[in-house]
Amino acid sequence: MRTVICGAGISGLALAHLLAAQGGEVVVVERAPGPRPQGYMIDFFGPGLEASEAMGLLPALERVAYHYDEGHLVDGDGRRRSTIQTKSFSRGRLLSLMRPDIEAVLAGNLPAEVELRYGTALTDVADRPGGVAVTLEDGTVLDADLLVGADGIHSTVRRLVFGPEERYLRYLGLHTAAFTFDAPDVHAATKSAFCLTDSIDRQLGLYGLRDGRVATFAVHRSADPTIPDDPRPAIQRAYTGLGWVTPRALELCPPAEEIYYDQVAQIELPQWSSGRVVLLGDAAYAVSLIAGQGASLGIAGAFLLADRLAHTRSIERGAAEFERLWRPVAEEKQRNARSMARWFLPASPTDLRIRRVMLGLTRVPFVMGYVSSLLAGKDTKLADVLRQASGTATEPVVT
Ligand SMILES: Cc1cc2nc3c(=O)[nH]c(=O)nc-3n(C[C@H](O)[C@H](O)[C@H](O)COP(=O)(O)OP(=O)(O)OC[C@H]3O[C@@H](n4cnc5c(N)ncnc54)[C@H](O)[C@@H]3O)c2cc1C
Repeated sequence: MRTVICGAGISGLALAHLLAAQGGEVVVVERAPGPRPQGYMIDFFGPGLEASEAMGLLPALERVAYHYDEGHLVDGDGRRRSTIQTKSFSRGRLLSLMRPDIEAVLAGNLPAEVELRYGTALTDVADRPGGVAVTLEDGTVLDADLLVGADGIHSTVRRLVFGPEERYLRYLGLHTAAFTFDAPDVHAATKSAFCLTDSIDRQLGLYGLRDGRVATFAVHRSADPTIPDDPRPAIQRAYTGLGWVTPRALELCPPAEEIYYDQVAQIELPQWSSGRVVLLGDAAYAVSLIAGQGASLGIAGAFLLADRLAHTRSIERGAAEFERLWRPVAEEKQRNARSMARWFLPASPTDLRIRRVMLGLTRVPFVMGYVSSLLAGKDTKLADVLRQASGTATEPVVT
């Protein structure tokens, strides 16, 4: 089977790995000129971690992982107002990984037969009975049996095949940004534990990296979903006055091309596939950074899709089975994220105080389990989902 995958993000690269391991012919087209450097820290756990282990990638991911046992809520004067145990984000193992590092592990371990084309955007799709024709921006047309849109929350494949983004994107009332910067003083304050400002309606998270740099992510409330043309001054305006080390982060905020900036949103689509076109990862079921599981659901989703395609030996049935099994998982994470939004970014002094107490209680083992279930939702196991697949083996097809 010849597959074109649009998008060399976490979901697309994972699927390329899996389909090629099954003997498929795979071309990945990626709009960015090379691996995307814009980074933020990802808590990686749950079904994605299980899938990575089955794919043999866990040791490589462990080698690039960070280990923050604790996170501190820090006020404008630099005082720790509460401490959360990182383990409480999940009930199982958890790795903290920079997004570019996950993509580098996936890309670096791709079977040699996968053709990975950077600097190539998909611009058109024609799904015909005998195959799907994929047009690239340079006019090249690729013929394939299957096209997978793994091109993220603002997916081009979804727009071309299912209609405009406005129909499917649920804006959650927040903007987010992420960038890295070099500041030894801030690094010294953030290298052993991640820090989150203890603030209302806007917050900055800071992580000291092993190369001495600091990774930051920012979230603020905004009724207007419009993304600014130049994110740097917009970030500097939105996060001014948070105190502690944050003026340094704003001062060292890099130019637009080194910043990740987007709306915080979810994708709700009535159907994830049409004919020979299937959507995967954020393109199909973005859960948002509030869920903290998009990367995990991207890799695990790729695993399940590859598994179902192999077992059914049919694009239509494989895609339908993938959706039947995976939609309830993604929807549960989306619901959970919406209900947790209030604690993710407090909107009032009362919410702020409740969050401090709730996160501080994660030191108590019994309470930690409860907080995990609030933060992460159900404890989804990929093996259980695979077991639900009708009349099929529970062991992955992938070698
Ligand atoms: C600040 C922040 C923190 C997060 N924290 C976590 C966390 O703790 N845990 C977690 O699991 N998840 C987290 N996430 C979510 C996670 O990063 C995403 O869910 C995940 O990266 C989605 O991967 P994807 O491959 O589906 O899409 P993307 O990463 O968006 O990749 C899509 C790719 O497609 C390419 N593309 C787009 N259009 C085209 C086109 N027309 N032609 C060719 N290529 C195209 C893009 O350039 C991109 O490389 C976080 C997200 C953010 C923003």
